Amino acid sequence: MHTIQELADLIFPDVKLTVQDLEKRYPPRHLPEGAEVTRFAPSPTGFLHTGSLFTAMVSSKCAWQSKGVFFMRLEDTDQKREIEGSGEDLIEQMKIFGIQPDEGYLGKTQKGDYGPYIQSQRQDIYRICIKDLMLKGRAYPCFCTPADLDALRLTQEANRVIPGYYGEYARCRYLTLDEQYEKIKAGVPYVIRFKSLGNHLNFIKVHDEIRGDLRIPENDQDIVIMKSDGLPTYHFAHVCDDHFMRTTLVTRGEEWIASLAIHIELFAAMGFQAPKYAHLPVIMKLDNGNKRKLSKRKDPEAAVSYFIEQGYPAEGLIKYLMTIANSNFEEWLLANPKVPFTDFVFSFNKMSLDGALFDIGKVQFICKETLAYYPKERISSEAYNWAKRFDSKLTSLIEQDYAKFEKIMDIEREQEKPRKDYEKYADIYPHIRFFYQEEYKKMFAELPALPFNPLISKEDTKAILNDFLTSTDYTLDENAWFESLKALGERHGFASSFKIYKNAKDQYKGHVGDVASIVRVALTTSQQSPNLYQVLHILSQDEIRERVELTLTKLD
Ligand code: GLU
Repeated sequence: MHTIQELADLIFPDVKLTVQDLEKRYPPRHLPEGAEVTRFAPSPTGFLHTGSLFTAMVSSKCAWQSKGVFFMRLEDTDQKREIEGSGEDLIEQMKIFGIQPDEGYLGKTQKGDYGPYIQSQRQDIYRICIKDLMLKGRAYPCFCTPADLDALRLTQEANRVIPGYYGEYARCRYLTLDEQYEKIKAGVPYVIRFKSLGNHLNFIKVHDEIRGDLRIPENDQDIVIMKSDGLPTYHFAHVCDDHFMRTTLVTRGEEWIASLAIHIELFAAMGFQAPKYAHLPVIMKLDNGNKRKLSKRKDPEAAVSYFIEQGYPAEGLIKYLMTIANSNFEEWLLANPKVPFTDFVFSFNKMSLDGALFDIGKVQFICKETLAYYPKERISSEAYNWAKRFDSKLTSLIEQDYAKFEKIMDIEREQEKPRKDYEKYADIYPHIRFFYQEEYKKMFAELPALPFNPLISKEDTKAILNDFLTSTDYTLDENAWFESLKALGERHGFASSFKIYKNAKDQYKGHVGDVASIVRVALTTSQQSPNLYQVLHILSQDEIRERVELTLTKLD
């Protein structure tokens, strides 16, 4: 007759420590009253999903605004799905969005007293906990093969009962200790299952910080807690980890509500106090009128890397995600334009419950607003950093003359109503290339004709450009220069304002706006450009002369 101790020692011969030893190794944290310890616990299975960035943002916010701790844990127990290097990419990408964990897995390093923070390095902890559960009679080895489980499922389907490994269907529960002992000794492969004491006909009440009290059926499934490869399943691992890492608040996707009852029972069986839970809504997308999850296969915006590669300002995307998180954020932002947006106080009761709809148009709007209000130094350096990774053409322009680039970025910036040209850094190159002589020449050569106003004759266009070449005084301030442009126009029969022209169209060939447009087209190849006076002062006088002369050759 074998005892449970003998069985546990046979399975875990090396495990000598107990849960009490772990309690001492990972003592409660000393934090101020109300401080939350939160975590972001991704699996290294590929890429940072926009929904995961949302979760990480909410988790970090809850910790930081309560003067708590936000840590990162890498959940790599599903080693088949692991993608080499993706843990480090996750950290790298979170950093871009200003979400740097205070503690935990940090890519190449780990920091903190509650580690290791990589689940595959925590096997000793899980083994101690599982042995503890076995000794309490709440875990047992299961020798069922995949074929046995398939057969069980078929029987259950045929009998129309709830599928799964539970109650009377949990065959290995009923093996004697001797039978279990002998099988293990004989090398029969096994997993370890939790022994549930629940009944799905009973309901339990679990509080969710966002959803309030949830009434859910009790768990009755004997779930696998240790797989045949010796690693724990997510359900079990997160219970041990969140307990010994002293997590106070678990923020995770709502897909986990379905297994919440399992987690609650596991915490209780281990004698641990369960953390608070907040199950976040999943980010959805409207597709032909139907709501569906953002999909990594169909939607480029499902991957955070998309926003990084396109050069959306990190702050813009985070602000957008905050509008999804809290309905009062936008109003707050408008009321506090001068305050850092990170001062906003997030709350769960302002979070909407139905899947938030991802609106790329709104992301673009917020990013455009964000970039418009960056000081020139910030937009220039962020754009340069971005360009070095993703845009060699922009990089080479910037590196020709950084001061010039900063001047270009400064056009109509830092004023009451700044210009809103860019929603992302990828927009910069096409917008500003005309400022560079070589680029201008390429653009000029590519155009069959410059987009001059067809209602103004070639002769008048030429006369205005020639006059401009000889008469422009670059020392004038903006108002005086505009006056000189009016005078130039008048010399060629153009009214000095649109109003004058409108009232006497037959007396004029056009108005000062048309004159400015001729100069603009000659200097930039386009009808639209930023403030002409500033363009004139960023280009050198030689460049201006060369451009006008080149234009004149096209008008012959
Ligand atoms: N590793 C789990 C996931 O990636 C984490 C869930 C949780 O935060 O507890 O979905």
